[in-house]
Amino acid sequence: MIRFATDLLRAGLMLGCLVPLATATETVDDDGPPPAGEQAPAVVADPPAPAPVAEPAAPVDAAAAAADGDTQAVGDEAGFPTVAPVPPFRLLGAKVPPGETRTLAWFASQHYSGIDSAAQVLVAHGSRPGKVLCITAAVHGDEINGVEIARRVFHKTNPTQMAGTLVVVPITNLHGFERGYRYLADRRDLNRYFPGSASGSSAARIAHSFFHNIVRHCDALVDLHTGSFHRTNLPQLRADLGNPEVLHLTHGFGATAVLDDRGAPGTLRRAACDAGIPAVTLEAGEPMRLQTNEVRHGAKAIRSLMAHLGIVKKSWRWRDPQPVYYESVWVRASRGGILLASVGLGDTVSAGQVLGVVTDPISNARAEVVAPHDGRVIGMAVNQMVRPGYAVFRLGMERSEEEMIRAAPPPAMVDDAAASPADAAPDAQTPAWTPTDEPRPDE
Ligand SMILES: [Zn+2]
Repeated sequence: MIRFATDLLRAGLMLGCLVPLATATETVDDDGPPPAGEQAPAVVADPPAPAPVAEPAAPVDAAAAAADGDTQAVGDEAGFPTVAPVPPFRLLGAKVPPGETRTLAWFASQHYSGIDSAAQVLVAHGSRPGKVLCITAAVHGDEINGVEIARRVFHKTNPTQMAGTLVVVPITNLHGFERGYRYLADRRDLNRYFPGSASGSSAARIAHSFFHNIVRHCDALVDLHTGSFHRTNLPQLRADLGNPEVLHLTHGFGATAVLDDRGAPGTLRRAACDAGIPAVTLEAGEPMRLQTNEVRHGAKAIRSLMAHLGIVKKSWRWRDPQPVYYESVWVRASRGGILLASVGLGDTVSAGQVLGVVTDPISNARAEVVAPHDGRVIGMAVNQMVRPGYAVFRLGMERSEEEMIRAAPPPAMVDDAAASPADAAPDAQTPAWTPTDEPRPDE
């Protein structure tokens, strides 16, 4: 039986060789339908998953799984069975066979048990062994660019052509997502409670369940976010570059901006890193909007990361694979009023250039917001009413990887549970008139 399956698989692989995946290149357009060769199989809904277990499942053991008859033989591209059989991927009480996808259910169990609703967890388990990459989106329920990035990545993934496993949670904070709301039902920020506690607050329990039932089964994690509260971000990674494994991850996102940041305590990526799972946050755009340029960049960057990690073919790699590292400062409004920006996200600006104008709606007094340095606009407030001191433009100054690694470890972003982050102490390395503290954490 196994021999027969192997022959079938070999025939399939040979046929696959005859059909070039010509479009699976750097020029892939994430807006279009997937190319025929990359069409993912239909997602199969599983029977209702049991309630999440408190402890992580036992590690997958190839030998034990083989004894169960759970494995299937696979061949390399020439059709020869050269690799060990791949055991099913076990998550949330389910087993996902190699070469298949499943939609699993994660219950945070924070409602009334009879009407609890599940967050959906998409799994594509490759035909060959490899790393487990976890993609999470909408940890903040109003950040929907990441939901679309996650959808594009998952549904263009064919598990029969993968080495490794993709675990995607498109909507992590289901309650917030349903209401277009950043926080949980109790108005806590889920991204300040990881890795959580089984006996803590509602937020801590949700974080604990998610972290132990899903995140701990992954080898690397990308958490998708946007700017927060009427700010928008150029697609950019937040990464602890002092962690070699995290630094290695940043090399996989193509020409994406990278900011060195360890992450506030309680963020998903920091908790994952502390647990030995390298993790980064990918910020793209602003909340409550679906922005095609940012979404396209994000989906392409994650496909590129999957190639970097050996999960999909190298042909998916970005044509210009270099990350761009930035040191950054925030430029603030000197007075309150109506903010109208003169520059856009991604623009390169010069020292002294007017970035925007703030006009008092009553007196008509104007104040210009001026760039203190040459740099690039990597984050900015959308046009709105601002108060004096409001952080309006985030300027990035390009640095080499060596310069970033040599620099002192960056301070973690300010926890928004603390006193107003906007009042946090400015970075001592910069003049007092250009505070560099995070005005509000995006993640
Ligand atoms: Zn966020």
